[in-house]
Parts: sequence; structure tokens; C-alpha cells
Amino acid sequence: MRALYWFREDLRLLDNPALTSMCMQANEAVFVFVIPQSNQWSQGAERMGPHRRRFMLESLMNLDRALRKKGNELLVLHGNPDEAVVECAKQWNCNAVFSQKCHTDEEVRSAESVSKSIPHHTEEAATLVHPQDLPFAVDDLPEIFSRFRKKIEKNGLDIRAELPVPIIPARPQGMPITEHFAPDIPYRMTGLPESTILFEGGEDEGWKRLKHYFWGTQSLSEYKQTRNGLLGWDYSSKFSPWLAWGCLSPRSIYHAIRQYESDKEANDSTYWLIFELLWRDYFRFIAMQNGARIWHATGLKEAPRNPVSHHPLQWKAWCTGNTRSPFVNANMHELRLTGFMSNRGRQNVASYAIHDLRLDWRACASWFEHWLIDFDPCSNTGNWLYVAGVGNDPRPQRKFDVDWQAERYDPETVFQSHWNRLGEVFPIEPNYVP
Ligand SMILES: Cc1cc2nc3c(=O)[nH]c(=O)nc-3n(C[C@H](O)[C@H](O)[C@H](O)COP(=O)(O)OP(=O)(O)OC[C@H]3O[C@@H](n4cnc5c(N)ncnc54)[C@H](O)[C@@H]3O)c2cc1C
Repeated sequence: MRALYWFREDLRLLDNPALTSMCMQANEAVFVFVIPQSNQWSQGAERMGPHRRRFMLESLMNLDRALRKKGNELLVLHGNPDEAVVECAKQWNCNAVFSQKCHTDEEVRSAESVSKSIPHHTEEAATLVHPQDLPFAVDDLPEIFSRFRKKIEKNGLDIRAELPVPIIPARPQGMPITEHFAPDIPYRMTGLPESTILFEGGEDEGWKRLKHYFWGTQSLSEYKQTRNGLLGWDYSSKFSPWLAWGCLSPRSIYHAIRQYESDKEANDSTYWLIFELLWRDYFRFIAMQNGARIWHATGLKEAPRNPVSHHPLQWKAWCTGNTRSPFVNANMHELRLTGFMSNRGRQNVASYAIHDLRLDWRACASWFEHWLIDFDPCSNTGNWLYVAGVGNDPRPQRKFDVDWQAERYDPETVFQSHWNRLGEVFPIEPNYVP
């Protein structure tokens, strides 16, 4: 069989069930990734900003190199993803398309459109717990995370094994070898201090990071105590960009944690990283359960929980880091200048946007979508719904006291001085805000 493999949120060879399934059935294969032509919101702003674009292109170059070492290559196409995939499959007379299953509205529709033209096999791999291994149907997902987690952990976590890198089929006979994928990479910000977090995309870099965080510095052993940090590389795992692009699978991380526990030590911290991966799963299952509903202004509720008065000046102040809170501003500058913000920062700027400035959560989520390297539609929307109190959690929502949080997590204002100074040195271009 000759097949086309469509890489989507899974830019890796290791532990990739759809890829493995295709490699077991096909003797010739074409590997494709499609960069969507339309990268714009209706207001004209770009959905994917420069940091994420850079990470994506680096990840694609790494994947192309890995496939070439195995006698094949990656074709990077531009266009409407489903049309480009079908056209390419027809051009090379492929009998079937294989891909990882996606769960958000637009991606699901795109997969369905491919299935109308050609046999299309998909496999689940986005979550740590395989949807078929849940002790309940996705439609019966518990409304509160802790209930979800307890049900999953009741009989011990039983996570499927990691799949090895499969034997890659040859390229179709007669298919010309193209040049290595070498795109124009958006420039990195220069002039930032050397300690600044700057991610590099690709499966190899993801593993380098994991090995550093686990066996290199053994920071995993202290994760629970350090995870609310604000400055530096090792207060948290920083796995999110590689997870969002699928350069690392949550299962691989899970099995590496178990390996670390048997090599070094098992403690609250090693468990806590698994706990956080379950949060990630939870938001993915919410997206599976609710489809396009997660994007509604009122989220999963009938009415908004908080009054919304999306004032353009407040909105601009929030986006550009010019609010009355130096703590919020510092986080917003970090996001714009690096493509990353800590979890503590995200919780605070989101609470401030919703509860203090009364902004529309969807506009704020789209600002995050533009800047975050680790943007993941399920985790981003799920967290915004949660902070806005319009997710599926029925409990009263929490408003953060941002000044208190700044006192507690940045008592010497080191973080705030650092990023507020850099925000002044590298101001946002005047017309950048949507
Ligand atoms: C408003 C808001 C928006 C967010 N948007 C995103 C997003 O687009 N993409 C994204 O990956 N995360 C998002 N998060 C969750 C979280 O902030 C990041 O996953 C985390 O900061 C990434 O850093 P880390 O990898 O060092 O995390 P660690 O603390 O090391 O955690 C390990 C992994 O667990 C998962 N995780 C941890 N916390 C959460 C959480 N609250 N929700 C979902 N998964 C979690 C992530 O995959 C993370 O990489 C958002 C949180 C908030 C409050």
C-alpha cells in the first residue's frame, strides 16, 4: 500500500500511534505537513505570532531531518490543509491517509473533509489517558477536576506503553528528492538578557529539555515546591511548547517520570508533574465533550458569570502591559517578548482581565493564542473558561488578589523590575493591538 501521513499536532516519530499504524501497513509513504494559508482573525490580526511560528518551523526542520535519515522526507505545503492533503494524496496515488486524531472544531471538520475524498485512518494520542481507558464515557466527564482525577486514579493509573520509532516506508518510486526544508525563520529578539527563556522547536530539543530537567539538574525532585516560580528555566518543566506541537507525547513524559522514580526517587514532586498532565487531559476531554460550544461567549453556561464591558482602552492597556498593576504588566511583557508566561503569571493576568477590567475572555484568549509558543486550543480555552467561571465547574469562581499575589510570589519585585524594564526598552509597535 502507498499511504500519505499527515502530521498535525504530532511532530514526532517516537510514540506516535497513527504513524506506527501506517508504517505497519504501507510499503511506500508520503509525509506531509500543511501550513494553513489563512492565519488571520476576522479583525485582521494574525492568529500565529512570530514566536510560535519560529518554534513550528524549527520543529518541522527537525522532523524533516529525522525522516531523511530514514530514507524519506517531509513535504511542507501551504494552503487549506484538507484540500492540500487530498490533492497531494491524489498526485502520488496514495490509497489512504493516516493522521493523529484532533479534537477541536476546525481540526475535526478538516479531518472529516479529507475522509470524504479518501480513506482516512486516525488514532488517539493527544492525551496521557487514552479516551478508551477512561472509567466513564467522555459525555459523562465529571464537572470538577478533582472528581475526574480521583476516578481515573481509583485503581491506579494504567498508562499505555510508549511505542518505539517505527520503520519508515520508502518514498514512492519516481518521487523526486526535494531540498532540505529550510524556511525563513522569524528573527529572535536580540538584546534580551542571556538568562531569558528561549525555546527551540523539535523532538530532539524536547528530549534534551526533558533529560536536563530530570537527570541533569534533578529539578523534577523539587517541582512541587518550585512550580509557582516566575524567573528562570528550572522552576517548572517548560514542556508545554513541545507538548502542544506534539514533539513530546504525554505518555513518553509519564514513562520518563516512572523511570526517574525508579532511578532516583519518587516523591510528591514526581507525582505532581503527572497531576498537571492530568489537568491537560481534563481540558482536552472537555473540548471533546463540548465541541464548538467551548468558544461561546458564555462558555458552557447559559449566561456570563461576570459583567463584561470590553472597553477598548482597558483592552489595549492589558495587551500592551500598561495596566495599573506592575505585576500584570511584567507578565504581559514577558509573553510578548518571549512567547512564554509562567502558570502563576497566566492565572493572574487572566483573573485581572476578567474580574478587574471586565474584558471579554475570548479576546484575551486570542491575544494568548497569538503570542504563546505553547498555545493549545484545549488548554488555553479550558483555562480561560475556568477563570471566567463559565467552564463546567459549578463552584463559585475565584478572583485573584493580584497585589497580594505579587507580594507573595515576587516579594523583592525582582521579576517585576526585570520585565517592566525590558517592556520599556522594547515597546510594542503602536499598531500591533487588534
Ligand atoms: C489563562 C491560561 C491560559 C493557558 N493557556 C495554555 C496553553 O495555551 N497551552 C498550554 O499548554 N497551557 C496553557 N495554560 C496552562 C499552564 O499555564 C501551562 O501549561 C504552563 O504554564 C506551561 O509551563 P510548564 O510546561 O513549565 O508547566 P509545568 O508546571 O511544568 O506543568 C507540566 C505540564 O502540565 C500541563 N499543565 C500544567 N498546568 C496546566 C493547566 N492549568 N492546564 C493545562 N495543562 C497544564 C502542561 O502541559 C505543562 O507543560 C494556560 C493557563 C492559563 C491560566
